[in-house]
Amino acid sequence: MKTLKAFEADFPNEDACKTLLAECRWPDGPVCPRCGNTGVWALKSKPHHWVCKSGKVTTDTEGKQVTCAKNGGYRFSVITKTIFQDTKIPLDIWFRVAYLMLTSKKGISALQIHRTVFGEDSGSDYRTSWFMCHRLRCAMRGGIEQLEGEVEVDETYIGGKEGNKHWDKRVGKREAASKKITVVGAISRKGNVIARTVDEMGFTTLSDFVAEAVSTKAKLVATDEHAGYRHLRGHGFFHKTVNHSAHQYVTGSVHTNTIESFWSLLKRGIMGSFHHVTREYLPLYVNEFAFRFNGRNDPDMFRKLLQTV
Ligand SMILES: [Zn+2]
Repeated sequence: MKTLKAFEADFPNEDACKTLLAECRWPDGPVCPRCGNTGVWALKSKPHHWVCKSGKVTTDTEGKQVTCAKNGGYRFSVITKTIFQDTKIPLDIWFRVAYLMLTSKKGISALQIHRTVFGEDSGSDYRTSWFMCHRLRCAMRGGIEQLEGEVEVDETYIGGKEGNKHWDKRVGKREAASKKITVVGAISRKGNVIARTVDEMGFTTLSDFVAEAVSTKAKLVATDEHAGYRHLRGHGFFHKTVNHSAHQYVTGSVHTNTIESFWSLLKRGIMGSFHHVTREYLPLYVNEFAFRFNGRNDPDMFRKLLQTV
């Protein structure tokens, strides 16, 4: 990614931001966000606004049947049905916040972002930045093709740390484990990672995850000996395991070192920048770390984010 200065020079004003957003959102020209119609008209009086007069009947977000052609047509703008909708925050501010998130390998706290973007004495509430970061994390979801090549699948547990409490207030080991949140992930060596939080590590959860994230064309699926992975071979995967409980970590190309380095990046980032992450929000942080990891060598990572807002 560019330096912040060079990045900001690309978007001197709101108009430039909107032009780029439209380009990324609709590379083949504007599309009605309500019915998917491509034959829309630009509103001459209002830049970055269009009108759709399609007669197609569609269901809106509230489940109501609607037709864009009614009442003179459905008007929309470049931010309609994006994470930027219904906020008073100008797009150049949004872009700067996104830039800081995408370039902070270990994550950056909302407080730090707030100081950088709004300034210490701006009088604005840091929760504005917190809210913006969360909306941006929502946009950092998925969009990664099934993994191929040599793939590692592994799980990790985050949160529920009891180390700082006085000994008699510590909960039992089993209870502490239940407070932790399980994250399962698959990584293609030298490629992308796909990770998400799961409620349990049962066989169905794991095999559904692997079937979704990993192509059966993958040369290898390496895991530890967790029972949940036992049936992968029966599902068309070339599955090999390392026996961590027997202190076996690498047998030839069979190891889970690559995904473990992603886990340590995620954990260090969460502990270092966010300190405490609840079950509700952890999926969003996982999105953020995976998105940034997958874009690590991509100079267009920011444009990629604008495609999914
Ligand atoms: Zn429409």
